Amino acid sequence: MKVFMKTYGCQMNVHDSEKILGVLSTLGYRPTEKEDEAELILLNTCAVREKAEHKVYSELGRFKKRKGEGVFIGVCGCVAQKEGMGLIRRMPFVDFVLGPRSIYALPDVLREVKRGKKVVKADLDGSCITSLTVPILRQEPYRAYVTVMEGCNNFCSYCIVPYTRGREVSRPSSEILEEVRRLADTGYREVTLLGQNVNSYGRGLSEGIDFPMLLEMVHEVDGISWIRFITSHPKDFSERLVKAIAALPKVCEYIHLPAQAGSNRILKKMRRGYSREEYLEKVAMIKEYIPTAAITSDFIVGFPGEQEGDFELTLDLVEKVRYQGIFAFRYSVRPGTEAASWDDDVPLHVKRDRLIRLLELQNTITQEISSSYKGKTLDVLFNRWGDGKLEGRSRDNKIVIAPGPQSYVGAILQVRIERARMYELEGTIIKGGDA
Ligand code: SF4
Repeated sequence: MKVFMKTYGCQMNVHDSEKILGVLSTLGYRPTEKEDEAELILLNTCAVREKAEHKVYSELGRFKKRKGEGVFIGVCGCVAQKEGMGLIRRMPFVDFVLGPRSIYALPDVLREVKRGKKVVKADLDGSCITSLTVPILRQEPYRAYVTVMEGCNNFCSYCIVPYTRGREVSRPSSEILEEVRRLADTGYREVTLLGQNVNSYGRGLSEGIDFPMLLEMVHEVDGISWIRFITSHPKDFSERLVKAIAALPKVCEYIHLPAQAGSNRILKKMRRGYSREEYLEKVAMIKEYIPTAAITSDFIVGFPGEQEGDFELTLDLVEKVRYQGIFAFRYSVRPGTEAASWDDDVPLHVKRDRLIRLLELQNTITQEISSSYKGKTLDVLFNRWGDGKLEGRSRDNKIVIAPGPQSYVGAILQVRIERARMYELEGTIIKGGDA
């Protein structure tokens, strides 16, 4: 049987789709890229902005015609959790709705659906984050995601995640280490530890562990060369963590540290739990211990009440930090969040203008940083090959392209950088750890 799956949103969703396809593989399903040959169509959805949610409904509309051919249609992810039965009422041809914490209930759900029932499974207290007994159909052979925790307790005033992914639950370190060992045994070189706020890992576990300790434990796993993690919350980004990153050679010098805004007034309204000064102190601390660290961030422009002066403080923060890159969006009202009750008073054209100005500034910085790589030598883990060229990522997460044989895929090699585009570097393989 074939399943066609479309995934929207963040790394958590991408990895959840790998888990869902793993569960389905035990039921005899295998993935297909061709939606018209699938017996099962699944959308793994994102609710972080209105636009993302609208995409789901227009996409579902396209699949409606397949219903007549005995095809089952399911919606997973954050829109599924947010809407539940409401989604089936709105789209009666949808057979089931599965929340992010109910992935392992899929076999039961499909059994019910095949008996003609409509099923909504959207528990937010699902305990099993990642099963060690069910396969995961990973997209890549050398780089893998490993969930260390689920959910978020921060309730930033604009964010829907705590409502769609539930309260923070950390996974026992023994399970994480077992998964990482198995990955190493099957040839994986890099793991990315995943969580909405990995810095609060360990809270609620009886083993008395925190994220720096987990990094040290994962670091001891033979066969894994590189360790990454995403996402951090600046308020929980400790000096202990920075020291651990600096001291552990396998931990890559790439840190995603979402600031969201540069104005204290707006940060307060967002309930981010830090001031711009505290944020800049964290950045200074990172640059002190890890001078080569690449930092990226998320930003929201046009937040309720944002004045021109507030926005200029965001621009100023971007100039001060000089991020390797940013993910920036216009504020989007999310139902059920605290901010949804506030007047969305920044006009759309002003939001658009601010987003353009912010991205223009960042693009200038990104290009300057990329250009500064020319002549440098970087370690690169190559994970793709095509047309005689290898593609990979450096430790600080830059995309690097270099000519070479397909046999180099999965290797960590040194590349001398000769050309620099905004988001891509190109160079020549000189030698490397694995060569
Ligand atoms: S930290 Fe804030 S923005 Fe991030 S997932 Fe949690 S509530 Fe959302």
